[in-house]
Formats: sequence, C-alpha cells, structure tokens
Amino acid sequence: VPTQSKVTFDGRFARDLPEMAVAWQADEAPEPQILALNEGLAAELGFDVEFLRSPDGLGLLTGTSVPVGVVPVAQAYSGHQFGSFNPRLGDGRALLLGEITDTEGKLRDVHLKGSGRTPFARGGDGLAAVGPMLREYIVSEAMHALGIPTTRSLAVVATGRAVRRETMLPGALLTRVASSHLRVGSFQYAAATGDQDLLKRLADHAINRHYPSAAQAENPHLALFESVITAQASLVAQWMLAGFIHGVMNTDNMTISGETIDYGPCAFMDVFDYAAVYSSIDHSGRYAYANQPLIAEWNLARLAEALLPLIGEDQEQAVKTAVATLEQFRPQYSAAWLSGMKAKLGLPDDVADEDASPLADQVLTLLQDNHVDYTSFFRGLSSVVRGDARPARDKVLDVAAFDAWAERWLALGPDADAMDRVNPVYIPRNHLVEEALGAATAGDLEPLDQLVDAVRRPFEERPGLERFAAGAPDNFGEYTTYC
Ligand code: AMP
Ligand code: MG
Ligand code: MG
Repeated sequence: VPTQSKVTFDGRFARDLPEMAVAWQADEAPEPQILALNEGLAAELGFDVEFLRSPDGLGLLTGTSVPVGVVPVAQAYSGHQFGSFNPRLGDGRALLLGEITDTEGKLRDVHLKGSGRTPFARGGDGLAAVGPMLREYIVSEAMHALGIPTTRSLAVVATGRAVRRETMLPGALLTRVASSHLRVGSFQYAAATGDQDLLKRLADHAINRHYPSAAQAENPHLALFESVITAQASLVAQWMLAGFIHGVMNTDNMTISGETIDYGPCAFMDVFDYAAVYSSIDHSGRYAYANQPLIAEWNLARLAEALLPLIGEDQEQAVKTAVATLEQFRPQYSAAWLSGMKAKLGLPDDVADEDASPLADQVLTLLQDNHVDYTSFFRGLSSVVRGDARPARDKVLDVAAFDAWAERWLALGPDADAMDRVNPVYIPRNHLVEEALGAATAGDLEPLDQLVDAVRRPFEERPGLERFAAGAPDNFGEYTTYC
C-alpha cells in the first residue's frame, strides 16, 4: 500500500499470526501538532519530511487517516509483570500500522503509542501524555547514538486532547519504529493458547525476521532461543556499561530482536549505585541496576518454557536441553560486560581478563563508596592518562584509594583517545530530561531540542554544552520516574 511519500506498508504480522492481531482504529486527535520529528530516521525509512508534516502525514502519525489498505492492529501478548503472570496484556494503547522496508532493505515496524483504548486496555484510558512520550523520544535517541540496540522514535505528536493523570496533562502519540515488536510475552501468549501451530508459526516468523540462519540449524527453534540469549546478554551488558536502568523489565518488555523497548520509568544513573532504582512502582527493587542481568536470565527462562513444545517431542529431554542452553547466558553476559569495561578503561586487547576484571570491580566499588557520578568520572579518566588527574580524581573523596587504583590501572597502558570514543560526555541527564519535559508540556520546545542535539553526538565534547555534561545538581534530590 503506497503512501504519498512512496513508503509501502505490509501487514505481515497480521497475515502470519491473525490470532495475535486485532484490527482496530486510532482515536481522533482533535488538534494534532508535531512536537518532535526525527528527520534522520524519516530519511532512513524513506519518508519525506514534508509529507509527514502535511495533513496526510499527521493522519498517518496519529493513525486517524491511514493510507488505503493499511489495517492497524493491536498485538496480543502475555507477560510476567513484577514476577506475576498475566495471560492477557497486549497493546492497550498502541497499534501496529504495519511493516515497511527501509532504504537499506531492512523490515521495520511502524507503531503508534497513545492511540486510544483497544480491546486490551483493561482499566487504562488508552492515552499517553506529552511528557512520557517525549522522554521515550529523548532516551531512545540517546541509546541509539550510544550504539545500544533500541527501538527508535519517528515523531511525537500532541493530540490536542487532555489526559487525566495526577493532574490533567496534554496528550500525545509517539510513532515508534522497531525491527519488530515480538516480545518474550508474545511467545508466552502463543504458548498459553495451547495451539502448537500458532506457537510454531510465531517462532518461524521470528526466525525469518531476526535470525534467518537459525532456520538452517539442526533444531531451528532451539537455535532461535540461543540467538535471543546472545542478543539479550549483549544488550543488558551494554545497559550496565552505560549506567542505564530500564525500570520495568517485565517479560512483555523484553524483545526477541534484542532491542531495548518501552521507555517508561527508565533512567541513566547519576551517582553510581548498584542498588539504584528510579521507578515509582518498583518498591522491592526487583529491577534495580545490579539485578538487570539476573532478571534478563529469568525472563529468558520464561521464553524457554514457552518454547518447550517446539524444542523437542520428549518434554523431559526438552527441559534438560533448554536448561543447558540457558547456561550460556552468564558467560556470554560476563564476556560482553568485561570486554566493554576494558574498552571504557582504555585497556589494550592484550591485557588479560584476569588483570582487567579486578580493576573494573575495584573502580566501581570506589565509585559506590564515594558517591561518584558514573558518566563524568569515566569520561574524566582519559584526562588522567593525558597527565591531568583532576577531572576524575577530584570527584573521589578517598583520594588515596583513587591514586592507588590509578597507579595499577595506568601501569597497563590505557589509550586515552580510545576511551573518549566509548565513554560519553552527554547522556540524557535526569534533571535535564525533567527540565525539557516540563518546558515542552508548557509549550516551550527549545530545551527539548537542545537536549536531543546534545545526546545525538554523545562522544564529541562541544563548547557551550557544559551543562549537559555535568552531574545532577545537589538540590536535584531523589529522582523518581513514572510510567
Ligand atoms: P507497560 O508497563 O508499559 O509495559 O504496560 C503494560 C501493559 O499495560 C501493556 O499491555 C500496555 O498496553 C498497558 N497499558 C499501559 N498504559 C496504558 C493505558 N494508559 N491505557 C491502556 N493500556 C495501557
Ligand atoms: Mg510495555
Ligand atoms: Mg510502557
């Protein structure tokens, strides 16, 4: 189905998996207004920016007038939310418009979030407020610029309709672009129906879309599981290295592709703390910073359970195979993390893991004990190599401990330029995100644009952007994020 900008939508998900797709229409948006438009991503997708800004473009971005033949669908999925299984979640306030082939030939989902109640809405209003949609826009752009796999944000459009939260807030929709919206929860849904043909079609759809080489394996569905393990081990290692806390790692928020999805109560850490939690709903700290790899592994065990009927006919044997396969997660995660940590510390490849690993643990303990800002400390370390210790050393109260650590580290010959290529100057600082969202909600888009501009080139220090590089001000206090 061609749109005016010659982008063609397919309906592959709905065609392959009709049991998991409910055709549905977006609510009216009384006064649509673009708050953020991702021109780079639009070009990647083959969309004409002029078209997206036109009335027809706004119709597409709000789902209110889609090209002829496009059938938006709400996707069904299940999920473990904070450890409890909910067999029927699904897109309560979102719609998949369809898949498009981007300018590099890759298939991408175009999806609307905040488009009104669907049959999966349960008690929700189906809507989204400007603030959280812009947070997803900012943070997903930052993640992409950091090189971390993520869904993208094409646009945020204010609807002109108010949304009731603690107060009345302006409403908005986000257009999310993903390599797919298949989740661990999608497999849990298919498995829970008891329909093995559906489960198999879903697994084959996922292989076809994300891991085509798994089709050649002796056991393709086991190979699919292995591929997801590898993708998630790498992804979560990258979150940890960036100081990113997802906030709601429910199984419905973990993708099969290995992209980060669902930027709700997420945050980048300011002061390093293994126990950091920012989400207002995570009372027990289930999704605390240091728990993320364990939770990823737990979620993968839920994926394994869903896949069991496909892994082998003998279920007892299938369990053994799945358990043995899941054992690959820990070493893969650890290897990805340590390799990333070596890069952050600028250590040459020939430095042995046994030498690098204690140095990494010690520096994190130093940061934890001294309440040091994670991102600016690591960025400051390259200055230490260049002969000026202050940018890192001045952040640590226990200077003697820093000096002792730095001596051991410098003896390994770190490369300052290599460090600056992996340790960002600019991340979406919580206080700056709040400032930008507050201003945008009140009608001023300038702080949003400046922040997005800073985080899009995270490794390149630029004059005039000092406030985007600094840690949280002392008066910022405890930070809490909301879905
Ligand atoms: P999340 O915690 O964002 O992953 O959402 C969990 C589930 O709640 C998903 O099924 C969402 O579609 C649904 N949901 C979240 N917010 C709303 C809302 N305002 N209206 C309807 N459904 C929602
Ligand atoms: Mg979700
Ligand atoms: Mg969410």
